[in-house]
Amino acid sequence: MTLLGVTLILAGLLIGSAIDAAAARFAREEAWMMPRSRCTACSRPLVWYELVPLLSWAALRGRCRTCRAPIGWSAPATEMAGALIAAAAVFFAPDGLVLFTCAFGWLLLALAAIDFRTFLLPDGLNAALLTLGAAMVALTRPDDWALHAAGAALGFGLLWSVETLYRRLRGRDGLGRGDAKLLGAIGAWVGITGIPPVLLIASLSGIAAALALSVRRSTPLSGQSAIAFGPWIALGGYAVWLLQPLLL
Ligand SMILES: [Zn+2]
Repeated sequence: MTLLGVTLILAGLLIGSAIDAAAARFAREEAWMMPRSRCTACSRPLVWYELVPLLSWAALRGRCRTCRAPIGWSAPATEMAGALIAAAAVFFAPDGLVLFTCAFGWLLLALAAIDFRTFLLPDGLNAALLTLGAAMVALTRPDDWALHAAGAALGFGLLWSVETLYRRLRGRDGLGRGDAKLLGAIGAWVGITGIPPVLLIASLSGIAAALALSVRRSTPLSGQSAIAFGPWIALGGYAVWLLQPLLL
């Protein structure tokens, strides 16, 4: 593996750690950037050796050093995801697109981390994803711009229609508007042909996750069960972005 590859994977751990902290602060409605990370149970500011991705969590066995409150799985899971996104980019990204691919994946991870906690997909992050996708198309495949613009329109239009129809028929929200914006932004990356496989992966993985959750909570799955769909759209988007060039 190249030095760039190793650097990106290590950067992925740190970016995953920052995303987890930012998502937790967003969920608590605090400022995204705070001077120091703190234990959420005892409010003690954390020192540097408690903030090393994966290693600190493992060394502390998932508990605060002083108050012993469980730290939870989200930090190591998000750090691991940040590194896996980079590793997948290093091995599978189209030639010359490793950095674009990492940025795409990490933005998707940030959206997924926030949606898991809050059922919200911030407009700013969706807009960043769309802008970066437009820049990628302009710089690397300007002749294909129409396919990518159509992908964005189809992605947004499809979920917007589902959302609107569901609300008319059932009188309550099934999908959020953020989901439509997210699929639209992903469409700018994967193009119009990428939208059906993204939706397929998102639906199958989302249903599998909902079933797993209902088994664990031993409550049957119903129309009232709330599950964040954004993380599964994000997963589908990244998988299709990486696999599409290999399949075509
Ligand atoms: Zn504590």
